[in-house]
Formats: sequence, C-alpha cells, structure tokens
Amino acid sequence: MGRCPWKRRAGAFGCLLSRFHGIRYEYGIFFHHIREGIQVETPDNWLRYGNVWEIPRPERLYPVKFYGRVAQFVDEHQATRSEWIETEDVMAMAYDTPVPGYANSTANTLRLWAAKSTRDFDLDYFNHGDYVRAVEDKDKTETISKVLYPNDNVSAGKELRLRQEYFFVSATLQDILLRYQKAHDTFDLFPEKVAIQLNDTHPSLAVPELMRLFIDQHGLSWEKAWGLTTQTFAYTNHTVLPEALEHWPVSLLERVVPRVLQIIYDINQRFLGEVARHFPRNVERLGRMSLIEEGEEKRVRMAHVAIVGSHSVNGVSDLHTKILKEELFHDFFEMYPERFNSKTNGITQRRWLLLCNPRLSRLITGRLGEGWVTDLEQLKGLVPLAEDAAFRARWRQVKAANKRDLAAVILKTTGIEVRLDSIFDCQVKRMHEYKRQLLNVLHVIHLYNSIKAGNSIVPRTVVFAGKAAPGYFMAKLVIRLIHGVAERVNHDPDAGDLLKVILIPNYGVSLAEKIIPAADLSEQISIAGSEASGTGNMKFALNGALIIGTLDGANVEILEQVGEENIFIFGMTAEEVREGKRRGYQPRQYYEGVPELRKIIDMIGGGYFSAAQLGLFEPVVDSLLRAEDPYMVLADFASYVDCQKRAALAYLDPEGWSRKSILNVAHMGRFSSDRTVAEYAREIWGVNPAPVGPSPAPTDLRRV
Ligand SMILES: *Cc1c(COP(=O)(O)O)cnc(C)c1O
Repeated sequence: MGRCPWKRRAGAFGCLLSRFHGIRYEYGIFFHHIREGIQVETPDNWLRYGNVWEIPRPERLYPVKFYGRVAQFVDEHQATRSEWIETEDVMAMAYDTPVPGYANSTANTLRLWAAKSTRDFDLDYFNHGDYVRAVEDKDKTETISKVLYPNDNVSAGKELRLRQEYFFVSATLQDILLRYQKAHDTFDLFPEKVAIQLNDTHPSLAVPELMRLFIDQHGLSWEKAWGLTTQTFAYTNHTVLPEALEHWPVSLLERVVPRVLQIIYDINQRFLGEVARHFPRNVERLGRMSLIEEGEEKRVRMAHVAIVGSHSVNGVSDLHTKILKEELFHDFFEMYPERFNSKTNGITQRRWLLLCNPRLSRLITGRLGEGWVTDLEQLKGLVPLAEDAAFRARWRQVKAANKRDLAAVILKTTGIEVRLDSIFDCQVKRMHEYKRQLLNVLHVIHLYNSIKAGNSIVPRTVVFAGKAAPGYFMAKLVIRLIHGVAERVNHDPDAGDLLKVILIPNYGVSLAEKIIPAADLSEQISIAGSEASGTGNMKFALNGALIIGTLDGANVEILEQVGEENIFIFGMTAEEVREGKRRGYQPRQYYEGVPELRKIIDMIGGGYFSAAQLGLFEPVVDSLLRAEDPYMVLADFASYVDCQKRAALAYLDPEGWSRKSILNVAHMGRFSSDRTVAEYAREIWGVNPAPVGPSPAPTDLRRV
C-alpha cells in the first residue's frame, strides 16, 4: 500500500488504515419545520433517490447475536467455557464511503453497517410454511438500522437503542478481527496493529464484546484477552451532564445480551479486587467505582466500563479534562492518573472556511498564499494585516457581502427583512437548557423594553436556529418563546428596524455554512462547566465573528489564543458555579432585587409573548425561578447584559471591530482538527506521520 498517511509505532509496522464505523441509518436526524412557533419533525428519507457515494459490500457480512441464553460446557482441556445459544441473529452488512484526503493520495473509509434479516441467508426459510409471517419477521430485525435516536446530550435508555449499540460494536469488532487474522497467526501483535478510539460511551459495549470474541470464539485466556483489550481501547468522554451518562438496566442487558453482561460482571469482580488492593478498607469507594450501580434497579455504568477497559481517557478541552479529573471521574483519576489526558476538539478549515466562505478564503489566500488550507497556523500571517486600513476595508466588504447572502436566506425562509448594518448576533446549535438560549431571549426582551422606554440601541438582528429533541418539553417551549418574542418585536413599529428576532428552521450543516460566514457576534453562553468543548465557537471565530461567551469548554482556550481584548467574556466561572450551588442558588433574590429582570420575567409569565394562550410560558418562568435550576440563568443575567453593552459599543467602531475580527481568525490555528487528529495519533495511538504523495492522476484512482 503506497498511500498511507500514518505509521504505527515509529514506522516499524507499515501503514495505518484509518476507518470510522457507524450505523447506516435509513432515517438520520429529522427534518425540522416550525408551524406557528411549534417545532414539527418529519423523517428525512435521505436514501430515497439512492446514494452514489457508497459502495455496498454484500460480502462483508457478520452475524450479531441477541437474546438466547448462556450454556456452560467443559472443553477438551477440561476447562469450563461458555456458549451463547438459542440466539436470534441479525446480519450486519457493510456499506463503504470513501473519505478522500485534501489534494493528497489518501482515501480513508467510512464503514456503516446495515441490518439484514438472517432469513435472507437461511435455507430453512424456503421451507417455512407461513411465508408472509416469515417476511414480516424479516422487517422486524431490520428495524435496528432504521432510525437515529434524535436526543442530544440525553441518554435514550430504550431497548432498540441498546440493540443498535451492540449491533454496530459487534459487527465492527468481528470485521477488525477477521482483517487482523488474514495477516497474523496469533493475537500477540493486536494492540500494535489496531487502535480503537471509543467516541463517547455509545460504543463502550466493545470492551466486553472484544473479551467475548477473544475468549469464546478464539479460545484465549482471560488474562491474555484482558491485556490485549485494554491496550487496544482508548475512550473519549464528550459530556459531564448527568442525564447524558448511559447506565443500562442490568435486567435489560441480561435479556438482550446475556453473555456480554456475564463478562461485564467478571470484569467488575477483578476490577473491584484491584480497587480494594489499591485502597484497602474503603467500601464506599468500591460502591462509587463499581461498574454496577446498586439500587432498586441495578444498572451498568457504561462510562466506568469504558474507563476500566481503556489505556487512555480523554476530555475534549482543557477545562473539560480538568473537570473529569477533579469531579466526574476523580476516583478513577486517583487510581490511574496516567490514563487521563486532554485533546482539545478542532474543526476542519477545508469545510469551515475554504468551502463555506469563498470570499474570505480568496482574501486570505491573496495575501498569505494557500498554505493555511493544510496548515492553519499560517493564519498567524494575518496579525500585521490587522493594522492595515485597506485590508480592514476589504475584510469588511467580505463580511458585508456574506451578510447580504444570509439576509436573502432570512427573507426567503421567514419573510422578514433585516438591516445589513445591524449586528448579526447568532446563536445556532442544538436547543438545550444548558446552552441557555433562554439567557439570550432575556437579553432580547431587555433590548426591546429599552427601545419601548424611548432609548436607542445599536441595531441588531438576533438569529436563532437549532433542533430540539422531539421529547424535550422545555427545549420545545423555548422555541415557542423565541417565536412569540419574534412576533411581538418584529411587528412593533416602535422597534422598527432596530431589532429583529429571526428563527430559522431545520438547522444542520448546510444552514450553518450560510449563517456562520455572515455572523458578527457568536453566542457561546452555556453555564460554565457544562459544555465539554463546543465547536460552533471555533467555526464562528474562524469566520471572523467575535465571541460573547462564558469561560466554558474551549472558549477558555480561544480566549488564551485571541487575547481578552478580542473576545467578550462574562458570567460565573466553573468554580463559581460549583461554589454557588454548594451555598445554595437563590434565583428569587435576582427576581426581587433587579426590577428590570422582574419586569422581563413577568412579561413572559403574563402572556405578553403568547397573547392567544396567556399561561403558555409559565413553565419557563417556573424553571427560571426554582432554586434547583441547574443552569442558573438569572445569576448570569446582569453580567451578560453588561457584556452585550460592551459588544454593541465596540461594534460602533468599525475599524476597531475589524481589527478584532482579523485577530480572531489569525489566532484560530490551534483549533484545526488537523492538530487534534495529529495529537490523537501521536499521543494515544502511537502512530507517526508518514509522507503522502500528491493527488494521483485520475487514471490512477483505484477502488478504495
Ligand atoms: C458545529 C455544529 C454543531 C455544534 O455546535 P455547538 O455550538 O458547539 O453546540 C451543531 N450542529 C451543527 C449543524 C454544527 O455544524
């Protein structure tokens, strides 16, 4: 193979083949409409007209076992072994999508699994008396790859979801083992040849599944299998939100994947023995660290399975990693400090600048050359240009043209005309309480009240976009509130063209590519300690928007890069949040103590934005005023409003604003996913870069 960008372990073992695995869902994330303020979901049947990019691999077919029971038997060496029998098998079939590198000779593979009924391959089927029933059964097994669960940062906890996770993990591991065995007689080199990165806990059943395959299918001893397994896996955590942490009921695993559950128990028994040796006479610690959570309903803590089964555990920003070490996984950090490391997320400049913002790309390339496209640190060359008035004028022209394009999209999707010289103030991301779209809404109402009181404001267009999980009541209510505020504000002659509130439906990558290049201000206002990294923050800054944000996730590192004069930071720090919660949050204090805030909340609760249904937003008010509000929206309100004033004032100075904007772009080099991937490769997978050739001539392109 002559086209491999990475070599594992200092080049001694040849090339690295990088492969992403997942499920080939028939229905991906839903389509999103807004009808009279209400989010309506419709299925996105993306395969309807076929998919020319994928290559079906009907020969890459693996059986995945479900249900049944475990039988014990004694093998020819008098050892007791387990067999998972009377299972209902589902076949996993591979579909490959090539992922070409940028102007080089490399193509990696995205391999997605589709569920196929075993009946298709079962000769028995032809003798089946009830033909129609047999075909019906076939449909049922194929539901596994039918639809993606649409939750964001919430664990679904459904049997079908569990079956999806196990299906994809088992098929992937069988595939990896088969490929390895084609070239090797023993598994001794397995961890040197194979590195598996667990992208969150969703694939963490891979740990017991690889153990099962090694022991039950390949006859390895427990000790041998465990050594290979833990050297192969590494785990990336993506969230600290408690509702997002997967913990499957033991009773469910027992029914759906009984042999896998047995292995989890075996791992736990040995692991707790190790904990007890490390920390003698500490029963409470054993309970905290156990893979099994005791209680009325026993559950498996999937994050613990992933940590125990991996040689590396990482967070996705420095702050997030610190929280993993000091809070969420503190017990594990004390036991395995060397396992923990940080890998700050990144974004690809090929999509999030070169492709989505051709005007800015041309301007930058005209001055710096095109090296930044594969080496984002080269954007540092823009630093001196921030002092060049002619360059700043060109920079503003680019932003103005992008804003014109977005204004046309806004007019087309919402019928509303916006001022091109207004601040394009954008909060586009999934709808979730921790991201605090509500805080932004409170500020919008504050601006509106200010106008109504006869004050002038710096003109603003506040753009919201984002899908709420279909079952997430409060997130959907916030969408209705944004719509209600928009209806009031956009049609009030007093507000005129000073303030517009825009809610664009069906947020996804295609819409993000239109909004981000046109943004002036990027809202990154999650409660500190809750956003693991964020990547929207990076995309906006790379396109010359200034961030208004909390010291959360990667915002902290963006601040370090761009400098405090080029970013608008407000609100509590993660430590202040923790301390505030310990002392007891008292939202009523803010409600009663800040007349301006009280007025806003009373307007929301009193039906000012829901004339047809006066009490509609009472649950919003309740959520803001309860002492248990984990998002502490009111505590950051005053600081946020103050910071927004600073931002608006800064916008009145176009030269100063352009300088800040240029310096943001100039300092985004660290946030390229090229840097992130290189760190994973070097520090976790033990692979070094190898030279890649230029793009092959078209005739050289072979099937990948
Ligand atoms: C980047 C991106 C996100 C993540 O945005 P955050 O602001 O980091 O939550 C979500 N959705 C889409 C479509 C994106 O492009």
